[in-house]
Amino acid sequence: MQISNNTVVLLQYELRIANGEVVDAADAAHPFAFIHGLGQTLPAFDEKLTGMSVGDEFSFQLSAEDAYGQANAADIVTIPKEIFGEMPDGELVIGAELPMQDGEGHQFYGIVKEIQPQFVVMDFNHPLVGQNLDFSGKVLAVRFATAEELDHGHVHGEGGHHH
Ligand SMILES: [Zn+2]
Repeated sequence: MQISNNTVVLLQYELRIANGEVVDAADAAHPFAFIHGLGQTLPAFDEKLTGMSVGDEFSFQLSAEDAYGQANAADIVTIPKEIFGEMPDGELVIGAELPMQDGEGHQFYGIVKEIQPQFVVMDFNHPLVGQNLDFSGKVLAVRFATAEELDHGHVHGEGGHHH
């Protein structure tokens, strides 16, 4: 069967950025599993895989615009240092990726860019912002999502949740 909306897809893949560095990967023993068409991957990534079947190999590039976009200066934020409270030594360091919450309880990850006595500068841009992404890999399995998987919004069994 072919990949289409509401199919569960298992992949092995490698994600490279322009300098050739592999920044993400999944192999056949630990495949990446997702439900197609639910926004669990980049929309352009879902689109590229539409119509593929088990055993198909793929290799394509997504431009930064089709991936995580360009860096946005508004996503670099100065935060009073007291917000970080009594974070253990070694956690609040330049380059650290830290979870933060907004006033409505949404969680974001930010990267520490600068630490001053009174404030900390955090970058909430996605780590792959501004990058063209090269994906290559192979389709390992395609099946219909179960009603329960669609209800939960995630894959059960291999490559997914066990509960
Ligand atoms: Zn579940």
